[in-house]
Amino acid sequence: MRIDLHAHSTASDGADTPSQLVRRAREAGLDVLALTDHDTVSGLAEATAVARETGITLVPGAEISCSWRGISIHMLAYLFDPGHAEFARERDLLRDDRTRRGRAIVERCRELGAPITWERVREIAGDGAVGRPHIARALVEAGVVATIQDAFSPDWIADNGRAYVEKYTLEPTRAIELIRAAGGVAVFAHPGARKRGRVVGPEVIAELAAAGMAGIEVDHPDHDEDTREELRGLAKELGLLVTGSSDYHGSVKPNRLGENTTDPAVYEEIVARATGAGPVIPTCST
Ligand code: AMP
Ligand code: FE
Ligand code: FE
Ligand code: ZN
Repeated sequence: MRIDLHAHSTASDGADTPSQLVRRAREAGLDVLALTDHDTVSGLAEATAVARETGITLVPGAEISCSWRGISIHMLAYLFDPGHAEFARERDLLRDDRTRRGRAIVERCRELGAPITWERVREIAGDGAVGRPHIARALVEAGVVATIQDAFSPDWIADNGRAYVEKYTLEPTRAIELIRAAGGVAVFAHPGARKRGRVVGPEVIAELAAAGMAGIEVDHPDHDEDTREELRGLAKELGLLVTGSSDYHGSVKPNRLGENTTDPAVYEEIVARATGAGPVIPTCST
């Protein structure tokens, strides 16, 4: 069983539609894929329909924007009830504030001389929750930077870069509380991704474990070998589940589907702990 528990679609900052994503996951030889768009479940209906006929098991999820004392962190939420009112309301707030903040980042970029427009960014994002990768694509298109990665520099939209604007985020303990209230399972996404900005220390991970977080993503493209070993040790110490995933975003990022995977026993444990929803099991197997 090949299990990838973190991927994005056009419902947030991925480049593949939910249908394309599910089909590509099958082509990549995956048996289980989690759809974890940033702050939204709007891609799940389409992904569910396609997964049923494509023969892949789909784990409904989301990646919730949090921050701890100014450090941006992401909490993966699996198998929660999407109808849980309070959690749904928070996702709406998070998603809506991405629009306000996207406009503000575009404004700063313009002040810094980049000829990009909000209209174009909105077009690139389509119906998806707006994120910095959409703005990065506009910056590339306008010839301001050569690559998306270059847009994530201190000169432009990196964390605390010249054109950076904060967005509404949740306290991670609050996110964990909401995810669990909705019957879901919380896993800390890429906790050691230092190349993206500051990361939290092991004492914070311990606090979150005490608050009911179930696991941490250890095998992730943004983690080097030393980071993985440290995190694996910490997970063992704290009794946390260890997951692995690609954080696939389609052509806008180099991450390949299935480049990291999760142990089937860990996946089974996540499913066993969830009470909000079950995985979508295919009706045919091709
Ligand atoms: P946002 O959620 O709008 O703050 O944007 C964060 C997203 O930008 C992440 O989920 C990644 O997809 C992407 N991202 C963050 N840092 C980088 C980076 N250094 N290079 C490329 N993409 C990045
Ligand atoms: Fe992303
Ligand atoms: Fe993330
Ligand atoms: Zn992600």
